Amino acid sequence: MKAINKRGGVSIVLISTLYSMSVFSSEPSVQDPYIEGFKAYAEEVKSYSNDLNHSLLSYVDEVKKAEKQVGYIGKALPIPKATKVTDGVYTVVGSMIWHNPSNFGLNNNLSFIIFEDGVFVFNAGANAALAYSLHQQIKAITDKPVKWVAVENNQGHAYLGASYWVDVGVKNLYSSQAANDQFDAGFERTKQEWSERVGKNITLSARNVSDQFTTFEDKMVIEVGGGEKVYLYDFGPGHTPASTTLYIPSRKVFFTGDLGFNERMPVFFKYTDSKGWIESYEAMMAKIPEDTIIVPGHGTPTDMATLKRQTYDYLVYLHTQIEKIVEEGGGLEEALTLDQSMYQERPVFEQAAQNNVKHVYNEISGGDF
Ligand SMILES: [Zn+2]
Repeated sequence: MKAINKRGGVSIVLISTLYSMSVFSSEPSVQDPYIEGFKAYAEEVKSYSNDLNHSLLSYVDEVKKAEKQVGYIGKALPIPKATKVTDGVYTVVGSMIWHNPSNFGLNNNLSFIIFEDGVFVFNAGANAALAYSLHQQIKAITDKPVKWVAVENNQGHAYLGASYWVDVGVKNLYSSQAANDQFDAGFERTKQEWSERVGKNITLSARNVSDQFTTFEDKMVIEVGGGEKVYLYDFGPGHTPASTTLYIPSRKVFFTGDLGFNERMPVFFKYTDSKGWIESYEAMMAKIPEDTIIVPGHGTPTDMATLKRQTYDYLVYLHTQIEKIVEEGGGLEEALTLDQSMYQERPVFEQAAQNNVKHVYNEISGGDF
């Protein structure tokens, strides 16, 4: 018993065991499972050691304090290593399929750029565990602190990890005004959905920090040191009603957010405005030079021509073809026979193709969807 009483060795082993169990289990729990586990252990030992009970309880308090300060306590998740895009620009390419427990909700791209004054993170991640894991990769590359965080839109995988970045001291957070309002309004629903799909234990600690964000309408410029500037643009509705894209002319790199899908099929949700997406994409092409390196919202980094083929040309193809069918008096049945076989190698083709046709058909014909 004495050995356990000395805080250190034994309790550290217990901590990591408890935590690694909680990260990977899908048991529902509203409380932090790590702290709850320790409280239960304190209760259990009460009968045979008052000392140990007290030391465990004070440990719980310490951990609560520490957890708040560092944003997350636990193991780094086994996520892919960041790919170097260009000088000082990195991205962790997320899974190309739906968010689920095996990818921890990492099914979009999480990126960071090292500037003279600090590190700029693009996308907060779907939860604190992911944000922490990304942070560990940043720390392995640079000693500079994370100074800025921007999120591509109001979706869970862009935004729910934001409270981690606030906890570790990031003061400059950015989002398009409309996306920030949408995230704020839908926070509980978004958190619920992502905790059910990805795992309650890594999601439920997310807090609504939308009031800490600096927002913009169309454009915002941020000075990042060394004479470099980051341009944030919201080119308008598309995959989501509003979005934040990030252009860094000095590195010739542009982060499209969900305006751009590379390998993965563009997917449409209820709130997707596919016609608006085409127009927003055109506004983006008018602003961003053709020789810019692209980090898309989904898929690997690429060039403007490839991204246009993978996103814009696909959207235009759907619209032109389905408009023709509707004009000729064709119904949904006919629209659903539209040939999309040239895209069948793309991830999530099966789940997206027919649904996309229905969505565009309903947009054009004014039907419900
Ligand atoms: Zn997304």
